[in-house]
Amino acid sequence: MLTRDTVFSQFISYFPQADRVLFDRACALAEQAHRLQKTPDGRDYLQHSLEVAAILTRLKVDQTTILVGILHDFLATPDASRTEIEKIFGSEVLQLIETGHKISSIPYRQKNRQQVESFRKMFVAMARDLRVVLVYLADRLSDMRAIEHCGQARKESYSRETLEVYAPLANRLGISWLKAELEDLSLQILEPEKFAALTRRITTHKEERGDYIDKVGGQIRKLLVDNQLEGDVTGRFKHFYSVYRKMERTGVDLDEIYDLIAFRVLVDSVRECYEVLGLIHATWKPISGRFKDYIAMPKANMYQSLHTTVLGPFGERMEVQIRTHQMHSIAEEGVAAHWKYKEGGPVAAVGRDDKRFSWLRQVMEWQQDVSDHAAEESSFIDLFPEEVYVFTPQGEVKELPRGASPVDFAYAIHTDVGSHCVGARINGKLSPLKTELKNGDIIEVMTATHQTPRKDWLAFVKTSKARNKIRQWVKAEQREKSMLMGRELLEKALRKHQTSLKRALLSGLLEQAATEFGYRTTDDLFASVGYGKTSPGQVISHIVPRAEKSGDADRPDTDDQDKSSRRPSQSAILIGGIDNVMVRFAHCCNPLPGEPVTGFITRGRGLTVHTIDCLQVQTSDPERRIEVQWDMHRKTLRPVKIRVICEDQKGMLVGISGAISQADANIVSATVHARGDKKGNNLFVVDVENLEHLNRVIREIKRVKGVTRVERLKN
Ligand code: MN
Repeated sequence: MLTRDTVFSQFISYFPQADRVLFDRACALAEQAHRLQKTPDGRDYLQHSLEVAAILTRLKVDQTTILVGILHDFLATPDASRTEIEKIFGSEVLQLIETGHKISSIPYRQKNRQQVESFRKMFVAMARDLRVVLVYLADRLSDMRAIEHCGQARKESYSRETLEVYAPLANRLGISWLKAELEDLSLQILEPEKFAALTRRITTHKEERGDYIDKVGGQIRKLLVDNQLEGDVTGRFKHFYSVYRKMERTGVDLDEIYDLIAFRVLVDSVRECYEVLGLIHATWKPISGRFKDYIAMPKANMYQSLHTTVLGPFGERMEVQIRTHQMHSIAEEGVAAHWKYKEGGPVAAVGRDDKRFSWLRQVMEWQQDVSDHAAEESSFIDLFPEEVYVFTPQGEVKELPRGASPVDFAYAIHTDVGSHCVGARINGKLSPLKTELKNGDIIEVMTATHQTPRKDWLAFVKTSKARNKIRQWVKAEQREKSMLMGRELLEKALRKHQTSLKRALLSGLLEQAATEFGYRTTDDLFASVGYGKTSPGQVISHIVPRAEKSGDADRPDTDDQDKSSRRPSQSAILIGGIDNVMVRFAHCCNPLPGEPVTGFITRGRGLTVHTIDCLQVQTSDPERRIEVQWDMHRKTLRPVKIRVICEDQKGMLVGISGAISQADANIVSATVHARGDKKGNNLFVVDVENLEHLNRVIREIKRVKGVTRVERLKN
């Protein structure tokens, strides 16, 4: 039976500012809340709470964690009051209890993947706050110590889960004793016969082994003293599970009593560790391949020690571990030793996050090592093949699909963050928005109010939330612009019939026309006109009485531009994937299929297509721009002006026109000037299919002898 006094004295022994009043209040609250309850295996709840706290004191945790340990099951009780917890113990305690409670109430997604799921829960908890995980582990150990009282089925599944999830987790956290005890308790349930055999073996030769430990331990101690070294020497039984594993692995039955024993030497400094190692190797012959230097190369869980096996005084295999006292406390307390909390200190909090992140990254890298080498911990391999875990600068974990980008992350935080994101800092480094996120990345999203979702993000986002939001936005934006364009086109067409959009709307004629075209609203009709699906002429014929029609209503309205622009394009332009759009091509830049282009809504003239770098577009109102693409499947000819400078000699023109037809292009017109300097200056208008075709034409012309320069004229 544990008493409050025992547990509290363990606590205050390393945590001098421990508050007895708070400690007692937590115990009283736990007792009161659970007074009518027993744990599922019939234990008294306060005993369980105290045991969890006692286990936590061995990890030298802070007061918050002890209080959370005592109250860890509190929220599962019928009239648990969150307000009460917060009032007495503060919001941090409440938050941690809540995190634990929430995570333990996540239902298993798939029954047969229970272990994986528990691991996931642990991982999520870990990412939020390591202290929750320590409480989980202590809770599990307390439960495992009472496992005998459970039914057989629960015993087995619980032990298996402990062995496959919790013990490896304790190992990752570097808490070796907790790992060992969880493993041995599980083994006892899962392999009762083998466990009994091991126990028998230990008890049969107990005295012999005691003698052996005394003798050899004494020899090692003497070795230290003779060499003016100070150190603690202990001999101990290795824990059952590690012996069992060794037997399973080697297939050898370990008759040698020595195989159950290992010696440990604790000294003050790293230099002394190597000195002791030297002494031991000089005294007993080391067995090759058994020396491990975890001081120079610490394990991912920060474990540091020297391990060696030598042929001992009786010709037996003898294991020795050598480490400093400090390394030893890390091996016992694990990550908690690195990560001492100072209650409420903001400075401590900052350092703590750094530690946590670097540590988490280590764990995750370690997990990747395991996968790479298909190592023993097979239950971890590809646990999360589809996910990547990343963090906000505040340390909040976000689970995203593999391959996700900062844009996905931004949308996962909030739609507004996603829609306005302009850049990202990954682990403090400015990174492109399409960067693939890696486990453990810390991501900071930069936003700007003028930014809006971009269609090209669709090419790399992985989450459906991001994809849907971007699509929605692009669609709405396209529609809005199409409506605006449709209105302008109709307005212009109606003016020619001495009426106006306003009048058509007021008279209800436009609404009627919309219905006749099968649209629900006039806005839908505007959009259709804007997209080029319906021509203004078609709409006009539904509005203007036949008599008033001048007969040319179906001809697209044009102005006094030159021929090239007047041709309505059946062309090659797609707006939001819709083809057959009516557009004009700008004179200023005369874009060719294949060139990057953008659309621009001109008041009264509908959509004009410019090259993306056209100065006129760049200086125009961005609100009136619209995204367009070339429909490269559609073949259209576009006229382009080419200037050819050549020697003024006979047959030049023939040569050049020959070259142009050689490139499968037609000459629309040609003007020839002779310049004073005996150079010919020829201007051709040639129909080409696209940019590539134009380049072919230019190449062919350049081949003609006497041609000195060929250039495309934009206008
Ligand atoms: Mn519990």
